[in-house]
Amino acid sequence: MSLLKYKSKRNFSSSPEPEGIVKKKKSSLSFVVQRHKASRLHYDFRLEIDGVLKSWAVPKGPSMNPNDKRLAMMVEDHPYSYKDFKGVIPSGYGAGIVEIWDKGEYTDIERSGKNIDEKKLKAGLKSGSLKFILEGKKLKGEFALVKLKSDQENAWLLIKHNDKYAVDTKYNSENETASTSPINKWLAANVKTKKKL
Ligand code: MN
Repeated sequence: MSLLKYKSKRNFSSSPEPEGIVKKKKSSLSFVVQRHKASRLHYDFRLEIDGVLKSWAVPKGPSMNPNDKRLAMMVEDHPYSYKDFKGVIPSGYGAGIVEIWDKGEYTDIERSGKNIDEKKLKAGLKSGSLKFILEGKKLKGEFALVKLKSDQENAWLLIKHNDKYAVDTKYNSENETASTSPINKWLAANVKTKKKL
């Protein structure tokens, strides 16, 4: 996996984002969901595979309701250290505010141990169907990312599986965000009516 595209889009002398390297092995896999107020508010869903963060922009944010199929546009790989990034990107690509909405470890759905998990996840990336278990604070249990067979080459759907963590009520990730989060403080100060996702 390569970070060339990530690096080519950014100027690290003006952005506080990590320049990053491809990570060395450890015993578990990480995921992060960042909430990002750029030109539009969206969520960035990232899964560690092969030392980088495979990344999808999810306009509506993830859902714990299996009836929701959330569009997830695959974007460039991000460095592993991006999982801890939060702050203000002052100018250039992605300019705005990034905050960490949820994070934790994750596994392949069959939980065969990290090495086999990673092989299965890589195969899933290729075939366009990833199934995994998230161990976050907000996102828990089984999920799938399924690539759409459409003209939009990078379009996937993020779907919650029906398990004990699933909800059958309306789920809005915005409601799971503290009103005191940096982005919400900024919105409160700068926007009179909060833009609906
Ligand atoms: Mn983003």
